[in-house]
Parts: sequence; structure tokens; C-alpha cells
Amino acid sequence: MRVAVFSAKPYDRRFLTEADQEAGHELVFLEPRLSPDTASLAGGCDAVCAFVNDDLSAPVLEELAAIGVRLVALRSAGYNHVDLTAARKLGLAVTRVPGYSPYAVAEHCAGLVLALNRRIHRAYNRVREHNFALNGLLGFDLHGRTVGVIGTGKIGVRFIRIMAGFGCRVLAYDPYPGDEAIEAGARYVPLETLLAESDIVTLHCPLTPETYHLIDERRIAQMRDGVMLINTSRGALIDTAAVLRALKTGRIGNLGLDVYEEEADLFFEDLSDEMPGDDLFSRLVTFPNVLITGHQAFFTEDALRNIAASTVESLTAYARDNSTAGIAPDAL
Ligand code: NAD
Repeated sequence: MRVAVFSAKPYDRRFLTEADQEAGHELVFLEPRLSPDTASLAGGCDAVCAFVNDDLSAPVLEELAAIGVRLVALRSAGYNHVDLTAARKLGLAVTRVPGYSPYAVAEHCAGLVLALNRRIHRAYNRVREHNFALNGLLGFDLHGRTVGVIGTGKIGVRFIRIMAGFGCRVLAYDPYPGDEAIEAGARYVPLETLLAESDIVTLHCPLTPETYHLIDERRIAQMRDGVMLINTSRGALIDTAAVLRALKTGRIGNLGLDVYEEEADLFFEDLSDEMPGDDLFSRLVTFPNVLITGHQAFFTEDALRNIAASTVESLTAYARDNSTAGIAPDAL
């Protein structure tokens, strides 16, 4: 298979090349993000390999199909950025990499909780200026606190296990409850109960039409005053404008984000000289009780190795069967 790898960073090149050694696909690494302007770069390729910031809307898929692409191999678990209806109509197969490293995301999520609670990011900035005063740095013991986990799939279950290890009481909500979350130490409750009783609320569900702006003005009003809200899943699970208002009133006491509603235009690039300063994102980072990372929760060596291996497996299965029939059941 000749494969156009969009949004290719040096680490993609390294891990995909390593994973492809036996399979021997022809990987064409392209730095630009897939968009209507760059889709033609996949000319002559059987497949494109894309990441979460790539544009896989109907017009882009139409152009890809027109130039002979037959497979879109996602280097991500989430697929909310793909117009699957259009892909199906065009006969384009789509594969993803489910569960490549739930530990990476769950551990990053725990990192956000710990850093926010004990203000480690703020303390670090201060001690660098030889300011060792403790004012504004008061945290709380996690032990005995209630954590609400929304979505108990692969990542949610790992996160429950970590928080249970800290001695937290863990509540869970998922329309499809499973035994694993209970075994990990959580108790399933209705969403309203989870929001009303949790000191920390964290999102681990996919972005779908049903979960778009799951956390909005109404849901925020159901939460505890001063709640810590964490989102490492997808930006649009949260209505950012409503969250900004709740930060101003103090209803949300701490906010930790690894994902952001408009991240496709921002994250993964160094925009230090270009950011306008008056958008929602720039307003969020003015709050000292907000900690944002640029979609890096997945970013561990182990996860990158798994993503690459799983992507190459999908390419090989497609090449062998000329369809997705031979691809793992989790593939789309
Ligand atoms: P998963 O498919 O194993 O689990 C998702 C869970 O969400 C399922 O149990 C599902 O039943 C549940 N769910 C569906 N609709 C729901 C709703 N309305 N309310 C509550 N729960 C609902 O997925 P996963 O591997 O655990 O990943 C979760 C999400 O994490 C992905 O969808 C992806 O968006 C995100 N993710 C982020 C990163 C990152 O780097 N930040 C990396 C990987 C995945």
C-alpha cells in the first residue's frame, strides 16, 4: 500500500517506520494537516493516515476518493472528526486504533488532578522567582473525596483504579455500565447524582451528537460549588463559554483540560507569536485555577508504539482482504 501520512511529526516517522519494517508499505510522510488545500498531496496513494487535527469532512473525503484513495487509517481512538456517512457513501474504509494505551490518558488525567489540586504549576512558576510563600496554594486531601467518572470504557476504568488507589469514593455514569468499573472500585449512579456529589468530575466518553456540550449551563448548575472539572476526551463535550462563566463566578473551582473545542486550529503547533489574545482559549488561560495541556494525554512512547503497530496492522489487513473484513472487530 502507498500511504500518505498527514500531520506527520518526527515521532510519527520514527514509530511508523519501525512498525512497518516487516510489512513494507510505502509510507509518504507529509507535514501539512489534511485539509481541502492539501488533500491532493495524497494523489497516487491507496490510503491516507490521519490524526485528530486532520480535516475529514465530506468535501475532503470526496476529493480523496476521486484521486483513488480507498482507506483512511486513523492514528487515533476518537473518530468524531470523520464524516462517516460520507465515507460510507464514497466506499472509503475507515479504521482507528482503539485502546492503544488507556494508561497514558488515565495517568495524564491523574496528573492534571494532582497538579491542579496542589497548584504545582503555580508553585513551580513562583519558586523560579524565589517566591516561597504559600498563599493561594491551599489544596485538599484526595483521600476520602468523591470523584465522578463519566464514561467507563478503557480509559475511564483505568482512571477509576488510580483514584480508588488514592482512597477516593468513585461514582460512575455510563449508559452502558460494565462490571470492570465496579471491580475497579466505582459505583454506578445516575448522572444527576454523580454531578451533585462529586468534588472532581472527569469526562471519558466519546464525542457524539448525544454527548456534544454534555457539560453545559444546566449540568454545571447541578454540580457542587467549587467543583474540579477535568476533560481529557474531546473539547466539544464541554460548552467552553458556559465553563468560562462558571469560572468567573467560582462555581467551577478548578479546570483541567487536555482537549479544547477549537483545537484543530491551535494544538500541535507552536503559535506563540500568532495567538490573538481575545478568543475563548486565551480567556481560559488567564485563570490561575485553569491548567491546559495541548492534547498530549496520549503522548507516551508506549502509546506511540501501539498506535503505529495497530495502524500498520490495519493497512496490512486492508491490503490482504481489500476490505476491512479482516480488521479487528473494534475497527469501524
Ligand atoms: P471507550 O470506547 O473504551 O469508552 C467510552 C465509554 O463512554 C464507553 O463505555 C461508552 O459506553 C461511554 N459513553 C458513551 N456515551 C456516553 C454518554 N452519553 N455518557 C457517558 N458515557 C458514555 O473509549 P476510551 O478508549 O476509554 O476513550 C474515551 C475517549 O477518550 C475517546 O472517545 C477519545 O475521545 C478520548 N481520548 C483522548 C486522548 C487524548 O490524548 N487526550 C487519547 C485517546 C482517547
